[in-house]
Amino acid sequence: LLPLGMAIAALLVGVVVWMSRRRLSPLGELTRAVRHREFVVHYQPLMELKSGICVGAEALVRWRRPDGTMVRPDLFIPLAEESRLILPITDQVIDAVIAELGPTLVADRSLHIAINFSADDIKTGRMLPLLEEKLRAAGIKPQQIWLEATERGFLDIEAARATMAKARAMGHSVAIDDFGTGYSSLQYLQDLPLDALKIDKSFIDTIGRGSATSSVTPHIISMAKTLGLFSVAEGIETQEQADSLIAQGVEFGQGWLYGKPVPAAAFAAFHAQNKAT
Ligand code: C2E
Ligand code: CA
Ligand code: CA
Ligand code: CA
Repeated sequence: LLPLGMAIAALLVGVVVWMSRRRLSPLGELTRAVRHREFVVHYQPLMELKSGICVGAEALVRWRRPDGTMVRPDLFIPLAEESRLILPITDQVIDAVIAELGPTLVADRSLHIAINFSADDIKTGRMLPLLEEKLRAAGIKPQQIWLEATERGFLDIEAARATMAKARAMGHSVAIDDFGTGYSSLQYLQDLPLDALKIDKSFIDTIGRGSATSSVTPHIISMAKTLGLFSVAEGIETQEQADSLIAQGVEFGQGWLYGKPVPAAAFAAFHAQNKAT
């Protein structure tokens, strides 16, 4: 009997080891990541360009795998969107913002955090009541949370309009992300209740280069003004770009010139050094 028992035990151990070593499919791995909450959020400073004051940050998700490697969002967000795992990932980003920066947001009401929402988030709008409840519990004002959505979120234009109107009624500001990279931006501008345009990095890159698209950037900026929207420039890397944007009246910006995305504690320290006095 003893040898048989040992054989069965060995077999069981073998199965457990095999199961734990087995390579999961990318979707299987992402599902596990959601279940084990393997996502971390980094924060990139958002500056008021003219004054050089830090007014907030954009929350940018990363996937920290069990072996410690960090995976960039552009490598897993598409799969997350396709599989709708983006919905629980968005929830985890919201939870991270509140857990990591809640006290800082309560202590400084002029601090804002911009959160990225995917097409499914915008289409369903399901995150809004949850967000409202979580913010209230933490004592954070909805005005302190900005929503960013790309044009992919507007395919169902009626649903997008409803979600954005609800978000604004709650007190959030809403921005079109990566503005200018889609196909029908102008239509969206007319149809959606918006507060801000986030000018894509590809346009900022052209500043000072005398290329064809560099002549488009001033028009995007003046269009935002005509529509009463504020603008945010992303991917500012040089002082020359910053000076040009300031001269053109762009209110806010972010980029490596000011700071890369960093963990919450490093951002809070940066903000303490660069906030309005
Ligand atoms: P995005 O929303 O356009 O975010 C800006 C990206 O540009 C970030 O890349 C940021 O790190 C990078 N960046 C900022 N300043 C500079 C600069 O001066 N130079 C250069 N070369 N790059 C700069 P990241 O963090 O890799 O995010 C990539 C994209 O992944 C984001 O683009 C966004 O579309 C998506 N993403 C990130 N976090 C989330 C999230 O929580 N939810 C959703 N749905 N999407 C997210
Ligand atoms: Ca964004
Ligand atoms: Ca962007
Ligand atoms: Ca972009």
